[in-house]
Amino acid sequence: MQLAGKRAVVTGSNSGIGLGVARELARAGADLVINSFTDSPEDHALAEEIAKETGAAVRYIQADMSKAEECRALIEKAGGCDILVNNAGIQHVARIEEFPVEKWDAIVAINLSSAFHTSAAALAGMYEKGWGRVINIASAHGLTASPYKSAYVAAKHGVVGLTKTTALEAAGTGVTCNAICPGYVLTPIVEKQIPDQMKTHNMDRDTVIKEVMLARQPSGEFATVEQMGGTAVFLCSEAAAQITGTTISVDGGWTAL
Ligand code: NAD
Repeated sequence: MQLAGKRAVVTGSNSGIGLGVARELARAGADLVINSFTDSPEDHALAEEIAKETGAAVRYIQADMSKAEECRALIEKAGGCDILVNNAGIQHVARIEEFPVEKWDAIVAINLSSAFHTSAAALAGMYEKGWGRVINIASAHGLTASPYKSAYVAAKHGVVGLTKTTALEAAGTGVTCNAICPGYVLTPIVEKQIPDQMKTHNMDRDTVIKEVMLARQPSGEFATVEQMGGTAVFLCSEAAAQITGTTISVDGGWTAL
């Protein structure tokens, strides 16, 4: 198994892309820590379900990625990691003049600062082993912008910058850092945007999906969580050992437009 003996920590992984990435890493043989800010029986049951399906050792560790000390504690409680996937993220859609300050702060903390804190806690262990993978889940919005998403676009551009700096500091150590930039993937974060977009554009659900969301995605199809997971597994492979400090778009052509 490609990733046997490796331990992966995936932040924000009890749903959506994080869960999809976690499953694919476990299928490729990695032991796993999944995470969110909740601590429900369902969270722990999910860890058991992935363990049963894949044969991997899977733990659920609660940590709130909006809090610096909890980000760092997650890596400590995991016992360090060989693969760190910074995935936790939230979204809020509003014009800048009306954008709630607490939403701006939360988006920057969860979508950007958490990746700094977990990386700061995880990198020394990777350097010691001479192997490591930091995979930041950025977005097509880390490379392009949309109106009404100021905090998200700013945070995701920040993630791309952090990715480059991490890669440069890690260069030559066996540790790489890259960002996956998904286009639209139909996960809960996207579902939650549909009512706002319907209101903003005065459109029904199907029209918003087709004419607003997938209008930016030339393939006309949502990307899938399995495709994000497969890309993460590729970034962990020997073929990707010299890929570092860059972005991989999985966006149906969005950034080619
Ligand atoms: P999602 O809402 O399904 O998942 C977000 C995950 O983050 C959940 O597991 C949630 O519990 C977790 N989370 C939220 N706040 C947290 C906190 N304070 N502490 C710990 N965990 C927290 O959304 P998703 O679409 O799977 O998004 C995952 C990542 O992918 C995000 O960073 C998002 O910006 C990015 N992304 C998504 C899309 C898309 O179209 N779905 C596109 C580009 C980028």
